[in-house]
Amino acid sequence: MTVKQLEKEEALTVKKQKKVSFSKDFILKIIPLGGLEEVGRNLTAFELVKRNGEEEIIILDVGLGYPDSENMMGVDYIIPNVEYLENKKDKIIGILITHGHYDHIGAIPYLIEKLGNPPIYTTPLTKGLILKRQEDFPNSPKLEINEIKKDDFKPFKLGSFNIEYFHVNHNIPDSVGFFIKTPVGNIMHTGDFKINFTPFFDKPADLSRIVNLAQEGIDLLMIDYTNSPEPGHTISERKILENLEDIFKKAKGRIIASTFASLLERIQQLIYLAGLYGRKVVIDGHTMRINVEVAKRLGYLKYEKGIFIRPEDSFKLPPHKVLIICTGSQAEEGSALMRIAHKEHKFFKIINNDSVIFSSSIIPGNERIIQMLKDTLAKQGAKIIHYQMMDIHASGHACSDDIRLFINLTRPKYIMPVHGHYFMMKAVEDIAINLGVAKERIIIASNGQIVKMFGDRVELTNERVPANLVYVDGLGLGNVGDLVLRDRKALAEEGMFVAVVVIDTQTGELKNSPDIISRGFVFLKESKDLLNEARKIIRNIVAKNTKYLGDEIPIIDEEQIKYHIREDLSNFLFRKTKRRPVVLPVVIKV
Ligand SMILES: [Zn+2]
Ligand SMILES: [Zn+2]
Repeated sequence: MTVKQLEKEEALTVKKQKKVSFSKDFILKIIPLGGLEEVGRNLTAFELVKRNGEEEIIILDVGLGYPDSENMMGVDYIIPNVEYLENKKDKIIGILITHGHYDHIGAIPYLIEKLGNPPIYTTPLTKGLILKRQEDFPNSPKLEINEIKKDDFKPFKLGSFNIEYFHVNHNIPDSVGFFIKTPVGNIMHTGDFKINFTPFFDKPADLSRIVNLAQEGIDLLMIDYTNSPEPGHTISERKILENLEDIFKKAKGRIIASTFASLLERIQQLIYLAGLYGRKVVIDGHTMRINVEVAKRLGYLKYEKGIFIRPEDSFKLPPHKVLIICTGSQAEEGSALMRIAHKEHKFFKIINNDSVIFSSSIIPGNERIIQMLKDTLAKQGAKIIHYQMMDIHASGHACSDDIRLFINLTRPKYIMPVHGHYFMMKAVEDIAINLGVAKERIIIASNGQIVKMFGDRVELTNERVPANLVYVDGLGLGNVGDLVLRDRKALAEEGMFVAVVVIDTQTGELKNSPDIISRGFVFLKESKDLLNEARKIIRNIVAKNTKYLGDEIPIIDEEQIKYHIREDLSNFLFRKTKRRPVVLPVVIKV
């Protein structure tokens, strides 16, 4: 045996010995960077720290969130702040993705490079959706995605982590939860889930496998609690299908069904009913078409051959033979339903006897625009049908009975609710306490707060890493800073005030009286005094910031002039009007 081999052998023995007393030699940090106290931006890091300082990190889900439209002008997405991970990107050895919803995959194009582009592990449909979306980001690096198959549960290793997974029901096919075995302890993460014993288009959640895994002992159960305040079991698919079928039975004209593009379960139900009631299907809306195309290609949609038709071909059929499935249930700007309502759609406008289904609950903040959309459609002759029952959350996430069942089946030592708002976490706490789980074994964390697992304990620490919102413009042009956001808000609410100053470089004097243009602020004609005063201030600023070399050659400090116009005018306008428009100084030197 060579010395090298001996060393290797020794190293292995040391490794083995270490494993025996592992819990003292490792600490596992669980760091939620998003997804708590909100619905969206799901991203959790699991950082294994060895006593010798070595680290290994895996990540679960890389999602985006949607801004609350009132406060975030023109921002399309919010994503997690991954500053903490960026500094350790060479330690990241893999990303696990639970399912294909954007609150779990949507931030990949924005963050994957910052995370060092590690390999991704997920199911085939989720992989298809990630890759399809990636086409919109040609400059993003090529992804390495490893498929894990739902019916062939092969455990795999990522460094010191041993990963297993199990099938759960959700409102998109191919959803899984993960069982992560670490040298410190075992963690089960449910992903978004519900338990459905009689799903129509999917297999029931794999309870026997979940129980089998639980036999190995679960130290920490991270459980989706989005819907936990709802009593009882999740409304079954069949119930929703019955309700939808009722509409199909009664509708005399076309059916226009709006829903979320990601709600493949609902889309499947609609396509199934179309087949049953002899309707052809038009899929409308960019993301909706993408999702349906990927699901079709990978065999995740069941449909009759020839059922899909192009929009223009729908006019060759009698209206009662047509189903249009489209986006716009939240009255999203530019969505198919909005374009139909505002007569901007290339093919469709409302015709008599159209039934328009809103098949998802209203996201808080959208009430008013959805109401307006419904009115606009109704005025044009559409019949509006809105079922709260078809709520995206009510149908996609576990209710309190499901959570009770899950906790009973898995008997975890510690429970950490994930995915949703604070009041929902408290609901999980109540459920768990009622089942006999001690209060101190329920971990209620917030974004950025480090949870530590070591020895046989799980502890919520006061250590924090940055976890603020990061804003993204949908164009993918980069992140929007707080400042830009403030400007946009001011522009929208307070208007704009442009001061155009033309300075003669020969004399250093103003060419003529400063020009003032304002939008959405004051009617200029009615505020002559205000404007005159503003002009005076500008003149003074220019005079103060122009020095003369040898009494003749003017040196114009353009930056100072701009700065003072912005600041001084802004303060002046606020004093006079109690409003703060965006002040834009334009200095032209001639
Ligand atoms: Zn989901
Ligand atoms: Zn989710």
